[in-house]
Amino acid sequence: MVIGLDAVRLTERPLVVCDVDDVVLEFVTPFQAFLESRGHRLLPRSFRLHGNIVSQATETALPDREVSDLIEAFFDAQEAWQSPFSTTAAAIEAIARDADIVFLTAMPPRFADRRRRLLDSIGLSQPLVATKEPKGPVVETLHGGRPLPVAFIDDMAHNLASVGTHVADCLLLHMIPVSEIHRHAPLAEPPVLRVADWPEATQHIRRHCSAGRAS
Ligand SMILES: [Mg+2]
Repeated sequence: MVIGLDAVRLTERPLVVCDVDDVVLEFVTPFQAFLESRGHRLLPRSFRLHGNIVSQATETALPDREVSDLIEAFFDAQEAWQSPFSTTAAAIEAIARDADIVFLTAMPPRFADRRRRLLDSIGLSQPLVATKEPKGPVVETLHGGRPLPVAFIDDMAHNLASVGTHVADCLLLHMIPVSEIHRHAPLAEPPVLRVADWPEATQHIRRHCSAGRAS
């Protein structure tokens, strides 16, 4: 199921598709605080949540089912926990002057209304698409092969690989937040570009979009 795709109306401008968790909104840091409020702790032993969340009392890893339930409970309560990175708003505003932005979030679609409210509350009114399905086909459908520049930004290498497979000439930006667990994050293969932060991402997007217009 893909929520929100049909409602997206693009203009004749470049398209920039942005992941949300740990790109637009902080995820790992508030999720750790959420876990601690419930008597658990995330151990950054590898780049996964399942198997790495332990009970503070016993140091025993929670069963996978319980971890999945905690992730869903966090998405349910996201408005109380998540906020944007300090550099998000200015970057989105700058990019939106020259390009259409679409947020593409990998979360169960039933939480999309909460995410919509959260993004609206911080002034990010761009369209939101929510799905657990691979991101490549979604971006392919969004862009539809238009002769305009397209860019995609995500913190997960597998999402960048998926979009790279489905969307020709897409600028692919890998932006990984600074966190203990992200030190274990798989790196993306070229032509994906690694960027440190939103200001660097914005420079690449601006260059890609203006080059596309000139050709
Ligand atoms: Mg993400």
